[in-house]
This record gives sequence, C-alpha cells and structure tokens, in this order.
Amino acid sequence: MLRISTVAVALLGGAAAGAASPCGALKAVGLGDRLISPNDTGYDTEVNSWWAKNSRQKADCFVLPRTSNEVAAALTTLVNASDVSNIAVRSGGHSSTGSSSTVNGVTIDLSHLNSTSYNAETNIASIGPGGKWEYVYAELIKYGITVTGGRDGDVGVGGFLLGGGNSYYSGRMGFGCDSVVNFEVVLADGTIINANQTANSDLWQALKGGSNNFGIVTRFDLEAVPAPDLLRDTRFLSFNYSYAMIDAVVGFADSDQSIADDAFFTFFSHNTEVSPDIFAAGVHVNTQGITNNTTPFDEAKALPAFYNVTKVENIADAASESKTQSGTWNYGLTLTFNNDKRIAQRCVELHTELVESLNALMAPEAYFTEMFLQPLPSYRWAFGRQNGGNVLGLDNLQNNALLYTAGVGVIADDAPVEEAHALLKAMAAKVVDFAKSVQGEMDFIYLNYADVDQDPLGTYGASNIQLMKNVAAKYDPTGVFQTRIPGGYKISQL
Ligand SMILES: Cc1cc2nc3c(=O)[nH]c(=O)nc-3n(C[C@H](O)[C@H](O)[C@H](O)COP(=O)(O)OP(=O)(O)OC[C@H]3O[C@@H](n4cnc5c(N)ncnc54)[C@H](O)[C@@H]3O)c2cc1C
Repeated sequence: MLRISTVAVALLGGAAAGAASPCGALKAVGLGDRLISPNDTGYDTEVNSWWAKNSRQKADCFVLPRTSNEVAAALTTLVNASDVSNIAVRSGGHSSTGSSSTVNGVTIDLSHLNSTSYNAETNIASIGPGGKWEYVYAELIKYGITVTGGRDGDVGVGGFLLGGGNSYYSGRMGFGCDSVVNFEVVLADGTIINANQTANSDLWQALKGGSNNFGIVTRFDLEAVPAPDLLRDTRFLSFNYSYAMIDAVVGFADSDQSIADDAFFTFFSHNTEVSPDIFAAGVHVNTQGITNNTTPFDEAKALPAFYNVTKVENIADAASESKTQSGTWNYGLTLTFNNDKRIAQRCVELHTELVESLNALMAPEAYFTEMFLQPLPSYRWAFGRQNGGNVLGLDNLQNNALLYTAGVGVIADDAPVEEAHALLKAMAAKVVDFAKSVQGEMDFIYLNYADVDQDPLGTYGASNIQLMKNVAAKYDPTGVFQTRIPGGYKISQL
C-alpha cells in the first residue's frame, strides 16, 4: 500500500487525544478553519445545501477538508475522538435518504474537493468527489471531452460514481463506475491508497457499486470520451398518449447497439406548475448531436406535445437545464423488471392511483410526483466485465429490462410527508406483485435510486456480496465504515 500520509495523520491524531468533543478534536489538530459550527453564520446555509429537505440534518459541526491529507486527518481524528459520535460523508448531497448527513455527530463535506483536470496523453479525466456534474462538464468541454456522468447537473460526483451511475453515455460506456480506471481512497486508518486494475484491484472492483463501505474516495480517474454537442429533445404530452411513451421506452430497451448513442427515458408526472393533469414526458438525447436518427421515439414525436424543446447543445448546458426542484421533502424508490409492456402500462395505472390518493391527502399543488421508466437493453450488461468488473451483479443477465423509479416531492412543510411516503411504497409493492404475476420480476435494486429501507447490496448476488465483505474486512478491519459511518447501505447488514 502506498502510505502517503500515515505519519502526518498519526501525529495529528495524537494531538487530538483527550480533546473534549469530536468538533473540539478537529480544532485541536488544526482543522478549525475547515469547520462550520452551529454558531457560525454559514451554518444554516451549509445545512440547507443538501438537495432534499429530509437530508438537511444539523450535525454537531461540519468539516470541509480541502485536500486528501485533510480528509485523512479529519477521519482519523473523528475515529479516535474520546466522545464517540456518528460520522457522515457527503459529496454532492443529492441523496434523499439521509445517507450523507447526520444529526448526531460530524459530517465530512467533500464539497471543496471539486477540482477537474484532464490529461490528453492518457485520455484520463481526474475529478474530485465534491464536484457537481454541470461544473465538471463545463471544465471538461474546454478539452472537447466528457465522461460517463450524471444528467441532472446538480448531482454530485462521489455518490453517483460509487453507486453505479446511469448516464446519457451508458449505451456506449456502461455505468459511470465502469469508466473509473483509478480511485484515490482514504482508508479508516488515514492511509491514502490508489485502487485500480493493478493496485488494490479488489477494492477497485468493490467501489464500483459498493458505495461508502470501504473508504472515502478523494479522486476519481475516468476514461474520457469525445464530447460533440448533443441533441436533446424533451416533450410533454397529454396523459392520453401515455402508451406511446411506453412503446418508445420498450422499443429502446429492445434495441441493439446500432442506436447506442441515442439515450431515452420517459416519465409520468403530477406537477401543477406544469399541468393541472398528469402528463407523459419523453427525453431523447443523441450524444453525437445527430438530429435525424430513426429511433423508437419517432412515433411519439409525431404526436402533439404541449411542451417541446429540441436543442443541440453542449453537455454542461444540458446538465444545467436538467435540474429537479430542490428543497422538498423527497422520497424515491426503484425496481427493475423485464422489458414487458404490460408491466409498464400497469406502472402508469398505479401512478395515477397514487396521485388520486395523494390528492385525497393534500392539496394538488402541495406536491409533485415523477415515475420514470428507463431502458436497459441487454448489451449493457457486458460493460462491467469488459472494464475489469463491478459488483452490481448484472454480468450474467440475458434479458432486456426496464429501470423503474418513482418519487414524490412534498413542498409544504406541514403536509403529511410520512403518509405520502407510505403511499409511494404501497404503489411499488403493487408493481412488484404485478411483475411477479407475469413472471417479469428482477432482483436488481439500483443503489442510487433506492429508498432507505430497500436493500440494493443484497441484490448484487452471493459472489459480489462476499467480495464486498472481504474487501471491507481487508481495508477497514476495525469496521469504521460499518459502525461509525452508519449512513447508506452497509455490507455488514447482509
Ligand atoms: C434529481 C435527481 C437526479 C438524479 N439523476 C441521476 C442520474 O441521471 N443517474 C444516476 O445514476 N443517478 C441519478 N440520481 C441519483 C444520484 O446518483 C444519487 O443520489 C447519488 O448518491 C448522488 O451523489 P451525491 O454525491 O450528490 O450524493 P451524496 O448525498 O453526497 O452521497 C450519497 C452516498 O454516497 C456516499 N459518498 C458520497 N461521496 C463519497 C465519497 N467520496 N466516498 C465515500 N462515500 C461517498 C455518501 O456517504 C452517501 O452514502 C439522481 C438523483 C436525483 C435526486
């Protein structure tokens, strides 16, 4: 292992011994000017910088390191502090499960580790975890390149890449994690190592889908791809045309790689700011900027849209224009099932029932819903293995699939958010029942879209679960990432 900072960290950790509290210990090791504490003017701004209201948790203090060595110092100081408290790790703060924040301890906020650089000789982009995709892209397009990153510009680099990463480029490159050739990682003992195909390759694989179970990633090195301006066509149609959208997404999921540069997803939404009625939406992107490719979306494009924007633009602008409203009480969940039109149609019916139930619970303008269907054509399953392996457990699948995500955002603070969340879960349970009834259910739960009580790691398959357990035991033998950093999905729970 490459030990860059162990000595410095040991010295700093020693200085912290006996300090009164974890926040006091951080001050004692010289990180005082990296702290935001409850009496500081920036404290509320920091708390409110998480995307979803339910993740805006008031830590005892926030520590915002600026280098990997400072991350190591912060982590070891907190682990060794005399008063034990929880630790949370945050990159973009976009998770709505509270996995990157804590109310009972200290949050390590990686927002300042947000640099982006590109090495043209190796074609590798090096990206800090705290970057947000719109700014990452804006930097990379100066070199004419991009990476397999997020579509919503406000999503953070760290959580996205550690949970998989579904991207406009996934048809060519697979999940975002499959483009990562090297992770720089701070381990629980403060050691800073690299994980790649030749060094710590077991950790490299485990981090591709295994989330925050092994260490804090302080840099991602990704293979870059050329970034011509892309075509983005967004359409909102009357609910009456829902089945045309389903035909489109089912067609994309059944497609072969001849249209791998064409990405598509559909969603169904209640949002009174857009329409008084539930509407059906389709978003089609061609990553090469080709405007006249024949795709399964063409029939829906021929239908009347009450909103349509078709643009050829760079990916930074596309990401910047694709942000979902922040500051709501937000709940989301996910499923995966066979690419079966009947299941997709049932999802649309059940979403309508959900909206009816929510309307009985609160004013229509007090909330919005989004129910997404995204195509997963079977050729995508091979990318993980081709790139050295991930732990998502998809390598041996044969079938075309649909990735289902449903969410509700409650705007009003006094609205019954827990009841809304319960209705969402009840709807998903009915989707599962229907998928089973037509033999269309699939195990995979995509971590980045999972609800707090879903079990994504448990769906990765026995060998990947064992690999993650082995990696956690090897690189974090005292279980810091299992017990002291409880947010997120923990391999020790399986
Ligand atoms: C509106 C919206 C749009 C989205 N769009 C997409 C999309 O297009 N494609 C897609 O795949 N997903 C998408 N997502 C899901 C998104 O990828 C996840 O929410 C992801 O976790 C966000 O990353 P983050 O860094 O902002 O998260 P954070 O909330 O900061 O972190 C999420 C989890 O990752 C851990 N973590 C973060 N950084 C590190 C690190 N450096 N080291 C160790 N652990 C870390 C945290 O501890 C936490 O458990 C979207 C979500 C929303 C709400």
